Amino acid sequence: MTTAVVRGALEQPYEYSRRELVEPDWRRFPGWADVTEEQWRDPQWQRAHCVKNARQLHALAGGLLSEAFYDDLAEDQAKFATMSMLLPPQMLNTMAPSVTSGFTEAFLADPIRRYMLPVASDRDPVWPSHPHSSRDSLHEAEMWVVEGLTHRYPTKVLAELVSTCPQYCGHCTRMDLVGTSTPQVDKQRLLLKPVDRQDAMLDYLQRTPGVRDVVVSGGDVANVPWRQLEAFLMRLLAISSVRDIRLASKALAGLPQHWLQPAVVEGMAKVAQAAARRGVNLAVHTHVNHVQSVTPLVAEATRAMLDAGVRDVRNQGVLMRGVNATAEDLLDLCFALQGEAGILPYYFYMCDMIPAAEHWRVSVAEAQDLQHAIMGYLPGYATPRIVCDVPYVGKRWVDQAVAYDRERGISSWTKNYRTLLDTESPDQDQHFPYYDPISSLPEAGRRWWAARR
Ligand code: SF4
Repeated sequence: MTTAVVRGALEQPYEYSRRELVEPDWRRFPGWADVTEEQWRDPQWQRAHCVKNARQLHALAGGLLSEAFYDDLAEDQAKFATMSMLLPPQMLNTMAPSVTSGFTEAFLADPIRRYMLPVASDRDPVWPSHPHSSRDSLHEAEMWVVEGLTHRYPTKVLAELVSTCPQYCGHCTRMDLVGTSTPQVDKQRLLLKPVDRQDAMLDYLQRTPGVRDVVVSGGDVANVPWRQLEAFLMRLLAISSVRDIRLASKALAGLPQHWLQPAVVEGMAKVAQAAARRGVNLAVHTHVNHVQSVTPLVAEATRAMLDAGVRDVRNQGVLMRGVNATAEDLLDLCFALQGEAGILPYYFYMCDMIPAAEHWRVSVAEAQDLQHAIMGYLPGYATPRIVCDVPYVGKRWVDQAVAYDRERGISSWTKNYRTLLDTESPDQDQHFPYYDPISSLPEAGRRWWAARR
């Protein structure tokens, strides 16, 4: 007698089921009750109707949000906010997308709201900032070779063309430079005229053929007038040592209407053709942190970029508590990006050690657990790496720490190349620290930090 082996579907820690993308109905907000689809798709309308302050949010949401919420928001802006408020309707509409009652509670708990519209009650009540947090925590400006051009890795540079974005994220790592000043943060300014800065960047790249990879960023390149951006990219493509160009734009998700404009799509097609002729890999990198942001318009804008000839559209999200720091949230997002929107899940960065970010940050141990938990579900090439951007080192996979004191939350990392700040060869024994949020530590670790306050 043979025993029949029944091989059914096993129960898994994460169950995949395909979900259609949905554009939330913006008419649920009283202030947008009469907004037409034509207006919604118009990037000019979107930019003109961004919510920039509590008064405008009040006018939009009416009685949907309680007065206590506005007080919480005002307190945050006065005491903590490192970024000013700037929310395109597209982005705001992905918050509490399908709630009909109990809107304030749902809005408060919403993952997009948590990082795009922080309130004081979100912040860590004991350690809102880590003692080692700092503005420009990655020391990018220290590694500028010309204004806005960070040369941090041997073969790669970051070109900051602009210091503004169509949307401002509460956790922005470039909070030192990007956006308008807040009561807490008087921002640095780019001093050169855009044209002079671009000339200086291109001149450096011409003189430095060891650099083959240019991340064109900001801010957000969606805020560079298209003709100016196209001209810069064409000049970049004329430098024979440049082999990879990546355009950084969160607006692909926050304001997809921008990337759907005919002039932008046609311009991108010209740039992509030139890149293909020269054998240069041209890609768009975006920044999506939660599945709610992946709507049909985002997929449409991505398709427009791919059809224009961009080789790839990739996502670099940020790992944040209360936003996406569970395996389920990460996998839901990655499946929507990869399976429905044509965006490759690429990286999740641990949130950097900027001021007032402790409530968002997770420990290295939690990040390691999350990396483990998301393995094996997505195709290998679409399984994102969770990385820690270690000050003075650069990106490291979370499992690359060479030592880790879990009680005090201090991990150590090494590097294998020199940055502009290193005058001598890298010392393999030199360790660079990264710090877990203190509230994530065991009692003994929290006491250790408290004694040093
Ligand atoms: S889009 Fe990027 S650069 Fe702009 S505020 Fe957000 S994180 Fe910062």
